[in-house]
Amino acid sequence: MAELHKFLFDGLPVRGMLVRLTDAWQTVLARRSQNPQTGPYPEPIVSILGEMAAAAVLFQSNIKFDGALVLQLQGDGPLKLAVVEVQPDLRFRATAKTVGAIEGLSRLSELANPGGTGRCAITLDPARRLPGQQPYQGLVPLHGDRGEPIERVQEVLAHYMLQSEQLDTRLVLAANDTVAAGLLIQRLPLQGEVNLAGRNLAQDEDQIGRNEDYNRISLLAASLTSEELLTLGAEDILHRLFWEESLLRFEPLVQEQGPRFACRCSRERVSAMLKGLGREESDAALAERGNVEVGCDFCGQQYRFDAVDVAQLFAQATGGSQPSPDAWQ
Ligand SMILES: [Zn+2]
Repeated sequence: MAELHKFLFDGLPVRGMLVRLTDAWQTVLARRSQNPQTGPYPEPIVSILGEMAAAAVLFQSNIKFDGALVLQLQGDGPLKLAVVEVQPDLRFRATAKTVGAIEGLSRLSELANPGGTGRCAITLDPARRLPGQQPYQGLVPLHGDRGEPIERVQEVLAHYMLQSEQLDTRLVLAANDTVAAGLLIQRLPLQGEVNLAGRNLAQDEDQIGRNEDYNRISLLAASLTSEELLTLGAEDILHRLFWEESLLRFEPLVQEQGPRFACRCSRERVSAMLKGLGREESDAALAERGNVEVGCDFCGQQYRFDAVDVAQLFAQATGGSQPSPDAWQ
């Protein structure tokens, strides 16, 4: 069962979140394995994409953004693209694209950044976009400030958080073929939305004490191993790390309130994409194979259009606006 746990440290300006994606993550992998055009993800891709999925769910529920949060890794090695999209209600989907041989490669720098131009992007796409409004996007490279290689997704994202949110954040991620899990610890801003144990955070300027609290909790979080994150349940993880701290727990988000797999593709969206590409593209596919076939990269669903479907599609397609290339996704 996928679950998301939120908690505060009583009296301290620190909050935390723990996510464990189990059946939802297994669904993502099973659909990929069942897709005859792709086959299963190679093992290192499972771990990179799973860690990204856990992180994207944590980020979406951390910022409570009214729109899709898209975490994307664009690589210049065998791993060309890894994408996770999370809706405000925590429905998510994920996909990755690799080219060429992966065998023997396991490090993030070898897979996605051998040429040094790999990027990680977080896009916030508002649910109700105003005319002309662009989605917000932040970018970080897949290496450190002095070009040193970064081998973990959590390090790339820590870099991102430092640049964009400017809030101290500790992220611990791990994923295998059954679990994708993550722990996020964050220092609350000074004008915090919580005021715990009667302490007025906004007026308390004793920064040093505050940093010590955050640093202690952050170090505890960093002591969590991948093995523990993958094998222990949420209660055991929180107890193992924070048994000496006083945690204020929120009701866990599970099942229909929690993170779950869902794809947004549909025949209508695929139709809109084909229209956007133009009739020549569809006619070429018809001439070659007798039908137009489009598969969804996220869920593996195949959409088929025969000559009659295509004729109907373009008979209706007079006028109207050009759909964006990603409209079908
Ligand atoms: Zn789909």
